[in-house]
Order: sequence, then structure tokens, then C-alpha cells
Amino acid sequence: MSFELPEELQMLKETLRRFVDKELIPIERETLDGAKLKPEVEIWLNEKAVELGLWQFDVPEEHGGLGLGLLAKTVVWTELNRSIALPTRLPEIFGGASPILYQLNEEQQARYLRPVLDGKLKTAFAQTEADAGSDPAAMRSYAERQGDHYVLNGGKRFISNALDADFFQVIAVTDREKGVRGGISTFLVDADAPGVTLLREQELLTDDKPWEIQFEDVEVPAENLVGEEGDGFRLAQSWINTGRIRHAARGMGIITRCLELAVAYAGDRVTFGEKLANRQAVQWMLVDMYTHLHQLSLMVYHAASKFDDGEDIRNEAFMCKIFGDTKSFEAADNCMQIHGGVGLTTELPIERFWRDQRSMIITEGPTEVLKMALARHVLNEFG
Ligand SMILES: Cc1cc2nc3c(=O)[nH]c(=O)nc-3n(C[C@H](O)[C@H](O)[C@H](O)COP(=O)(O)OP(=O)(O)OC[C@H]3O[C@@H](n4cnc5c(N)ncnc54)[C@H](O)[C@@H]3O)c2cc1C
Repeated sequence: MSFELPEELQMLKETLRRFVDKELIPIERETLDGAKLKPEVEIWLNEKAVELGLWQFDVPEEHGGLGLGLLAKTVVWTELNRSIALPTRLPEIFGGASPILYQLNEEQQARYLRPVLDGKLKTAFAQTEADAGSDPAAMRSYAERQGDHYVLNGGKRFISNALDADFFQVIAVTDREKGVRGGISTFLVDADAPGVTLLREQELLTDDKPWEIQFEDVEVPAENLVGEEGDGFRLAQSWINTGRIRHAARGMGIITRCLELAVAYAGDRVTFGEKLANRQAVQWMLVDMYTHLHQLSLMVYHAASKFDDGEDIRNEAFMCKIFGDTKSFEAADNCMQIHGGVGLTTELPIERFWRDQRSMIITEGPTEVLKMALARHVLNEFG
């Protein structure tokens, strides 16, 4: 049993650490326009990804990418998230695509996946509704088959990247009786199709600007159904675990940076004639961050290695997301506290980490909902 990263991943980690320190952190407040990369930064970053040998690291080999294993990807996600230079929510970083798109059939891949990978089309994932967020069984959007097409009606909200999207991956009910057990399907819906309306941009605590969208009698060609009718939930299971590990790996990057910032500041700042670093109240915060980082690293590397060995990591993924999101938020909160007023300013990345990590505890599965799912396993295993 080894608890160390393999040598090649250790090297990858060091290379990325240098890149982030030298090239990303110095410009981290200038790279984004809202939640999106500035176009000139995106071009520069793509060139850097090629230089680093990481272009399309998250794209499977059969689609022309590097097809890195999950353990290797956790290293990339952790290191890139030590900085606030990159968008918080963007699977397309370094030339990727959202995971549903790898499940398209050949014809759909040619029309939708390939152009996304070539940077010619943009897409957004549309599942959440006013009455159906963490409980998708309450979903109302309905797609009714009529001959060679479906007619889609419904409203979605909190849809990231909707404004730029050329097409949406829409989750909708196709059989009301079956519901989540075979009654929900995924469709590719062109953003310029008649009946698709972007209703309202939503302002949040974070810099994200998701949208409310309306679908009214939108005719979706039957060939735009992903997989089989009723497959919507089954398809999602194939990538949802890796998304949870991504959250946790991001948390590792943030705790690491918060430790670096907090230790430096505590070693420098003097109050009441003593450095903050010499105060037990501050030391305990630092020790908690350090311990959580160690725990999280073990959890993430273990889960990712298991996944790469072809094993099921459903339960590990729940734990990683719960622990990673909450402990990285706590680290940002403690780091802010140690910095006092300076921690609240935009001169440092702490306030962005704090805002983003607060949102992570809600998005892609709120902590309570993941705990509810994990509880079923705990009750079974120890019952
Ligand atoms: C910045 C941002 C970007 C997003 N991007 C997208 C996107 O691109 N596409 C998309 O489809 N969606 C997106 N979402 C939506 C996001 O996934 C949902 O907000 C999330 O799933 C939670 O759903 P909800 O807001 O409806 O909360 P609800 O489901 O109403 O839950 C509210 C709260 O109730 C509690 N709760 C719920 N159920 C239980 C339970 N069983 N037991 C105990 N407590 C419970 C939890 O604390 C939860 O936080 C985004 C949201 C945000 C904020």
C-alpha cells in the first residue's frame, strides 16, 4: 500500500505548481471578465496548455485527447485551483467538453461534440427548475414524441453559460409515470430553435451569471435524443462521480493556497506586541487546515486510484465532495479571519475562494442531499 503519488504525477504536480506560481498567480485578478475568461487570455491559456503537454487532458483518447486517468486529473484540478485566475465552473478548461457529449452517437458527435472540442460551438447543461433542483424527480419540463420529433415545454433556471451557448443539453420528462426510473431523457436543443427564450440573467453572491430559460413548444428532432428514451438518469451516473471528485480536488488546491497565505500573513503581522503566528488561536486554525488537507488528499487519491482500477466509487465520491467542499470553505473562512480586514479586500484571492466555496456546498448536489444518499449505504452496511 503506497500513499505517495507515482513519480510521473509528482513531476506533473511540480510543473503545474511552478506554472501557477509564475504565470497564473501574478495575473489572477486580470484574467476574467465576470465568470468568463477574457478572449485574449483564453488564447494564451490554450497555448500554455499545449506547452505543458496538457491540451485536452480531460478528453478521452478515442476523441483525440490525452485521456488522463482520474488520479492524474485530480493533480491538474488541484494545482490549477490554487489560483483564482481560471473560471470556477468550466469543464472546457484546456480544451474539454461536458461529459454528456462523449455519450453521443456518431452522427451527434460530428454535429455537436467535435465542434465543441474544436472551439467552434459552446454548450450549457440545463437540468435545474424552479421546483426541481436537488430533487429532479419533481421535474416538470416535458418532451412529448410527435412523429419524427419531440415537442419540448418547460422552464429551467440557474443555467451556467446559457448566454454563450449554441446548444443546450436539456433534461426533460418523457414518461410522467416512470419519472426518475426510466421516464427522464436528455436532448440536444439548438439555442436558436423557435420557442427557446433566455428570460433573465441571475445575479448571485459569486461572479456567475446563470440564466432562466423557457422552452415553449420547441420542436426537437428525434435524432437529438441522447441514448435511448428514458436514459437521462442512467447516463448521468457515468460521470457524476468524477464531478464530485473534481470538487474535492479543487478544495485541495484552495486549502493549500489558504495555508500559504495564512502562514505568511501570521508570520508577519504583529498585534499587541506579538506575531499572529505565536497565538494559539491562530495556530489551531492553521493546524485544522493542515489536517483537513491531509485527510482530503488521502480520500481523493484513494477514490481516484480505485476509479482508475475500474472499481465503483459512488460512496467515496459522496464523502469526497461533502468533505472537500465544506473543509475548503472553512479554510477560506479561517484564512479570511486571520487576515482581518485585508482578507475581505479584492487585493487577495481569499474573498473569491470564500464566495465560490460557499456556493459549491449547494451546487451539483447540496451536502445534505449527498448525506441522505450516503446514509442509505451506511444503514445497509452496519444494519
Ligand atoms: C452558480 C450556479 C450555477 C449553476 N449551474 C447550473 C447549470 O449549469 N445547470 C443546471 O441544471 N443547474 C445549475 N445550477 C443549479 C444547482 O445545481 C442547484 O441550485 C442545486 O442542485 C440545488 O438545487 P436548489 O437550488 O433547487 O435547492 P433545493 O433542492 O431547493 O434545496 C434547498 C436546500 O434544501 C436542503 N435540502 C434539500 N433536500 C434535502 C433533503 N432531502 N434533506 C435535507 N436537506 C435538504 C439543502 O440544504 C439545499 O441546499 C447552478 C446553481 C448555481 C448557484
